Amino acid sequence: MSIDYQSLAVEGVRSLTPYQPGKPIEELAREYGLEPDEIVKLASNENPLGPSPVAMEAAREALEEMCRYPDGNAFTLKQALARYLQVVPSQLTLGNGSNDVLEVIARCFAGPGDEVVYAQHAFAVYPLVTLAIGAKGVEVSAKDWGHDLPAMADAISDRTRLVFIANPNNPTGTVEGETAIRAFLDRVPERVLVVLDEAYCEYLAGTDDDVDGISLLRDYPNLVVTRTFSKAWGLAALRVGYAVSSPSIADILNRVRQPFNVDTVAQAAATAVLGDLEYLERSREVNRKGLEQLTAGFADLGLEWIPSAGNFVAVDVGTNAQEIFQGLLEQGVIVRPVAGYGMPRHLRVSVGLAEENERFLEALKRVLERREA
Ligand SMILES: *Cc1c(COP(=O)(O)O)cnc(C)c1O
Repeated sequence: MSIDYQSLAVEGVRSLTPYQPGKPIEELAREYGLEPDEIVKLASNENPLGPSPVAMEAAREALEEMCRYPDGNAFTLKQALARYLQVVPSQLTLGNGSNDVLEVIARCFAGPGDEVVYAQHAFAVYPLVTLAIGAKGVEVSAKDWGHDLPAMADAISDRTRLVFIANPNNPTGTVEGETAIRAFLDRVPERVLVVLDEAYCEYLAGTDDDVDGISLLRDYPNLVVTRTFSKAWGLAALRVGYAVSSPSIADILNRVRQPFNVDTVAQAAATAVLGDLEYLERSREVNRKGLEQLTAGFADLGLEWIPSAGNFVAVDVGTNAQEIFQGLLEQGVIVRPVAGYGMPRHLRVSVGLAEENERFLEALKRVLERREA
């Protein structure tokens, strides 16, 4: 008798479904016999500008050191980041992407039998890290696609250890204002940690929804804010994210994270890009215009979308979103189906350059027309 090794996995892990990443360009090229440069990928909320030249230069230089282990405490990056955020370095925990930090937070503060609260349609990594540690996920119904913060406060029990909030949320693009977040935090017992995931906060600058989680740390010691270099900063492949918290919480997180979880090239590029504020500004501008272009295109096609504060937008294409997704693939356009998020009618489209957005909108029009014919 051979052993069924899957049955040996811990219970939470057995119930996991794998995270579905955006389809890589090379994979679509192989499957459909397309040239990689004819493919438009708007599926992973990456920065369409390409990397900052300043970050590229720093990364190239850092490659010279690839035979040595990285600085496990990332002294230079933490100094630069602390200055940029106006916090002290002991408040920072770096991760191999902020996904890594989210996982470390869950492992440090929850375990089997504990409850972790998050919202319906919220970022897929929250249930993933919750189930992986054997904790119980408590999913609170969304309100107008966004977080129903009063209902989330109601869902906190004696067993709750953690709450995850994505602001803005992926894949809905919804954002909760500072008043609502403060009202929520006022209701959360101090023994419950609240993780405010601000992966897209850079895109809020100058809007009415410009919530800055870090400014809330003073009033709420149970708050942990996470951010990333993967989106507006354009370093998704290098995997750098971080948490900002009290030094006491950061001390715990830093004990558990892998000692060399951010590599030398990533540290160098992230440090350098923090000095390239022009790149950040250009990223915001391209995003603002791209969102206008995409939503104007949806309006022309008679489609509804969820207003987004991020660098992507979820559009309602009707009951057969999977078929539309396939049709777009055949036209060399990769977007993201979000049925796994309980949104079977929507596709999530990342904001691209003007010509990429145009290619996508034209392809979408063709696919929709073909369905009607
Ligand atoms: C993209 C994203 C992240 C960050 O991912 P990393 O690349 O691991 O930093 C975190 N949270 C949300 C909501 C995201 O969409």
